[in-house]
Amino acid sequence: MLAGATALVTGGNRGIGAAIAAALAADGADLIITGRDAAALSRVAAQIEANHGVSVRTQTCDVTDPAAIAELAKIVSAEAGTLDVLVNNAGAAASAPFARMDDAVWQQMIATNLTAVYRVTQALLPLMTGTNGRIINIASTAGLIGMAYVTAYCAAKHGVVGLTRALAKELAPKGITVNAVCPGYTETELVDGAVSNITGKTGMNEADARASLIRDVPIGRFIRPEEVADTVRWLAGPGAAGVTGAAIPVAGGAVS
Ligand code: NDP
Repeated sequence: MLAGATALVTGGNRGIGAAIAAALAADGADLIITGRDAAALSRVAAQIEANHGVSVRTQTCDVTDPAAIAELAKIVSAEAGTLDVLVNNAGAAASAPFARMDDAVWQQMIATNLTAVYRVTQALLPLMTGTNGRIINIASTAGLIGMAYVTAYCAAKHGVVGLTRALAKELAPKGITVNAVCPGYTETELVDGAVSNITGKTGMNEADARASLIRDVPIGRFIRPEEVADTVRWLAGPGAAGVTGAAIPVAGGAVS
C-alpha cells in the first residue's frame, strides 16, 4: 500500500518508533529513521531491511537541536527528494510533583515533546510535495486528559494535539492530512523508566508499580508497540485519506 512512498520516523530506533518503522516497511515504504543513538539506529535499520526488503536510511538527529533538524532536512532533500509520510514520534517523559517542578525539566519536556514537532514538521513540510502527504504525531493519552505528577509532559502532549488540529485545517487544501495517535501506557523503555521512578519514590515493588499504571485501563494490560504502529500504518495508507485533525486513543478504553 505504501510502495514507492518515503516515510520518516523520528525516534525510530526503539520502542514505539521502531514498531512504526517496521509496520510502514511491511506496507512497502522506504524509510528514514532518526534518533540520537547511532548504533541502535543501525541495528533497527538492518533488521527492517532484512525483513522487508525496503531501503532504510538512518540519520542521527537530536530533535531539540534546530541545527540538527536543518541538517536532516538537507539530507532528506538531497537523498530522497520528497517525503510522503512524516511520523513525529520522538519523545520523553519526566515526572515531578508540580510544586517541585524544576525549570530544566519543564523546558526539556516542552522542547522534546512539543517544540520538536513544530520544528521538524516545518523543516520537512516543503518536501511533502505529493497530493497524499501524511503527518502523524505520536501524542499520548496525556494529550487528552490530565494526569497527576506529569504536568509538563501533559502540557506538551496537549500542545501536540492542538498543533495537530490546527495544522490539519491549514494543510487540508494541499491534500496533506495531520493526525495524532494517543497511546496509553505502552510496553517500552519509557514505561520501564516510569516504573523505576515509582519504585524509587514510593518503595513499591516492581509488580505493584506496573499494576498501578494500568489500574484504570479497562482492558487491564499495557498496550503493545505494534498496536500503536498498526494505527499509524492505517493513517498513512489510502483508507485514511478522509481522516484529518483526529486524535486517536490507542489506550484500552482509558479515555473513553
Ligand atoms: P522510548 O523511550 O522507548 O523511545 C523514545 C524514542 O525517542 C527513542 O527512539 C529516542 O531515541 C527518541 N528520542 C528521545 N529524545 C530524543 C531527542 N531529544 N532527539 C531525538 N530523539 C529522541 O519511548 P516510547 O517508544 O515509549 O515513546 C515513543 C513516543 O510515544 C513518545 O513521543 C512518547 O511520549 C509516546 N508515548 C509513549 C507511551 C508509553 O507508555 N510508552 C504512552 C504515550 C505516548 P534516542 O534516545 O536515540 O534519541
